[in-house]
Amino acid sequence: MNVAELQRQVEYKFAPAPLIAVQALANTFAFEPEEERLLDPDSARAWLVESELAAPGVAVGEREFERLVEFRAVVRDMLDANLTGALSEETAAAFQRFAGESPVRLASPQPGRLDLDLAPARSVDEFIGQIVGIAYRAQVTGEWERLKVCASDECRWAFYDASRNRSGTWCQMEVCGNKIKNRAYRRRRRATAS
Ligand SMILES: [Zn+2]
Repeated sequence: MNVAELQRQVEYKFAPAPLIAVQALANTFAFEPEEERLLDPDSARAWLVESELAAPGVAVGEREFERLVEFRAVVRDMLDANLTGALSEETAAAFQRFAGESPVRLASPQPGRLDLDLAPARSVDEFIGQIVGIAYRAQVTGEWERLKVCASDECRWAFYDASRNRSGTWCQMEVCGNKIKNRAYRRRRRATAS
C-alpha cells in the first residue's frame, strides 16, 4: 500500500498503517456521485491500483465491483458500530460471512516472524482478505475501536480517534460537531415555537 497516497485521500486523523487501508476504503464512499471513488468497475480498479492496494494487473469486472462495494458497506457499518457501540446482527453476520470467505494470507518479513501478507493484491477477493486481516490485527492491538465514522449525518467520514478516552464523535469537532449542535438547537427552537 502507498501510505502517503492513502493519507492524502483520508486528509486528516489518519489511522496508523496498515489500518489506514480500512479507513481509506471506507472513505471512498461519497454522497455525491462525482466524489464517489467506487462508481463502476473502472474507477474501483483505478482506486485500488493508484493506492497500491492491488497490483496493476488486477481484474475488476461487475462481479468483483459489486462484491467490493458490498464489502465496503459492511466495513462502514462496522465503523458506525465503533461509534455508537451498537452492532446490528445483520452487520455482524455479513462481516462474519466475508471473513469466512476471504482467506487471510501471512508472510514472514523477518526470519521466524509472521505478519499479514500485504503485497499489492492480485484480485479483489485477495484484497478483501487483506482488509479482513488488517481488521483482525487492529482488534488485537486495540486500534480497531478507534476507527469510526463521523456522527454527522452530512459527513460520515471515517476518522481515527486518537483521544485518550476514545470518546471522539466527529471527524472535525469545529465543523461537524457544531452542525449537530446547530441542528439540535434549531429543533429545540421549533419545538418551543409550536
Ligand atoms: Zn465529520
